[in-house]
Amino acid sequence: MHIFVAPHPPIILPEIGRGEEQKAAATIAGMKRIAGEIAALKPKTIAVVTPHGHAFRDALCVSVERDLTGDFGQFGFPRLKFSFTGSEKAVDFCDALEEAGIQAVALDRAAARQYQISTHVDHGALVPLSFILNDYSDFELLHIGMGFLTKEATCAAGRILAELLDESDVLLFSGDLSHRLLPESGSGYDKQGAVYDALIVNAVKNKHYGDILEVSEDLLEHAGQCAQRPFEMMVGALDGYETETEVYSYEGPYGVGYMTAHIIRGVPPRLSSRTSIGTSAGKYPKRKAWERSPAFL
Ligand SMILES: [Zn+2]
Repeated sequence: MHIFVAPHPPIILPEIGRGEEQKAAATIAGMKRIAGEIAALKPKTIAVVTPHGHAFRDALCVSVERDLTGDFGQFGFPRLKFSFTGSEKAVDFCDALEEAGIQAVALDRAAARQYQISTHVDHGALVPLSFILNDYSDFELLHIGMGFLTKEATCAAGRILAELLDESDVLLFSGDLSHRLLPESGSGYDKQGAVYDALIVNAVKNKHYGDILEVSEDLLEHAGQCAQRPFEMMVGALDGYETETEVYSYEGPYGVGYMTAHIIRGVPPRLSSRTSIGTSAGKYPKRKAWERSPAFL
């Protein structure tokens, strides 16, 4: 199964960046490479895990509508909009989560009314999807918003998701690394930002995925990131499998760390090799400001 990692700064879209996006040339090249590879794979389903969907305290949010739309209106570009066919596997995913004791909100129009939220696809998913749509559109979208679950439950949800998908489907984890790499980044400079980014990039580069689960709350707090939860779900999807991995790009041109990467999940796990998960359970602290507010960068 092909698994991709992508960031989601709206500024890298030429319609929004209007030239500024050129500072993130390596990221854009990585995004285009991912899009080209997905087009060659022709997956029926692309599952996108995003940190900027509707985040519930104790549940994942899974879009079960078949007609999905999203736009960049919150960034001042309402005419930059996209539509997708929702995946028929979305309901099965909710059922499988429930069976495993993990709560999920099956987001359709009725649920959206009940919670007074929208069914729109968020920018965490839209930015990578907009690159993919340039090359390939014949897929169904399984749109998954992170919830504030324990690490253990988050990893388990990743494993369940990967088991539900076909080998020919694609899984994409969306996340930006530290927002505090430079004083001008808007979130304030913190020297721990670069430490976090190096840890995550090396974990993917060296196939030490379990390191992602070991990041301390203190480092998460200092780094100011939105990738941690989606990437923890990715660890669950990879746990115990042989993999091939390549980091396509890493840079922080606006003071925010962006990584693009491709991981191929190969041989199925031996039960004895599944040891990395289950040791780091615990509740997360409250949602942080950088996880709430829309960010151009
Ligand atoms: Zn983000």
